[in-house]
Amino acid sequence: MGIIIDGKHVADKITEDLKLKIESMDKKPHLTVIQVGNNPASTIYVGLKKKKSEAIGIKSTVINLPETVSEVDLIDKIEELNIDLDVDAILVQLPLPKHISEENIIKAISPFKDVDGFTVENTGNLLNNIKPNVYPCTPKGVIRLLEEYNIDIAGKHAVIVGRSNIVGRPLAVMLLNRNATVTICHSYTKNLSDITRNADILISAVGKKIIYKDMVKEGAVVVDVGIFKDANGKTTGDVDFENVKGIASYITPVPKGVGPMTIAMLMENTVELAKQ
Ligand code: NAP
Repeated sequence: MGIIIDGKHVADKITEDLKLKIESMDKKPHLTVIQVGNNPASTIYVGLKKKKSEAIGIKSTVINLPETVSEVDLIDKIEELNIDLDVDAILVQLPLPKHISEENIIKAISPFKDVDGFTVENTGNLLNNIKPNVYPCTPKGVIRLLEEYNIDIAGKHAVIVGRSNIVGRPLAVMLLNRNATVTICHSYTKNLSDITRNADILISAVGKKIIYKDMVKEGAVVVDVGIFKDANGKTTGDVDFENVKGIASYITPVPKGVGPMTIAMLMENTVELAKQ
């Protein structure tokens, strides 16, 4: 049976170290999160981010704007935060209501306060293998987990299922920058299992059960980014964990895999931006 990667343990270790670092800083790092409307999942995520931030000494402000807020008013608020010297990091919780363009909102955030690493400047630098101000949280969390478990990336065939701007695309670039051979799959990919079976490192970021045992090479490293509720309301991931764990060399569970790492990387990015 493969080694189960304990994302929660690694994340706890990272946040404990951050807590000590923050104690020695003259000014506490300040993360401001903007939530538009009251999408229940977003409310849970925003609350969790606030709780985790405060637990390690990060000042956390949540700005709630109504579902009906205009794009212009949201941009005005972001611009206010961009020039507020007390604010180190800005996060706009996604998704946004349909009448607001996510693209325009991301463009409005200063790249120096872009805690998610989503702005064009930060993603452009990443693409060119130039160090961005910060790396996007979930891909950074995945890479950190691989490093913590001494899993080699260079020369490995990494297959990523999912090509979103927040997970698949930046993760592909980060793996490429570490000399992996990278294949990105998506909903138009034909014969998905033929490709996944060739993966030394298989990463799934789709949001539905999609990776089964017959799609995984014996000894592969399997990272499950997906997180959703199954028909019984239980939190689960993209990978058929119980059957795949027998053939993988390493595997992340859901929950307690990539999820806690994303939050830990958000905390780390906030501290990095505060120092910059
Ligand atoms: P997303 O924007 O919905 O992207 C999903 C991707 O999956 C798309 O690229 C889509 O392809 C691809 N896809 C859908 N059906 C497919 C199929 N049958 N075969 C191959 N590819 C398929 O989602 P996301 O925001 O990246 O999130 C993905 C999952 O990760 C979700 O469950 C989300 O909750 C979870 N997540 C977890 C964390 C964490 O911290 N653990 C962080 C972020 C996201 P197309 O591009 O062709 O549509």
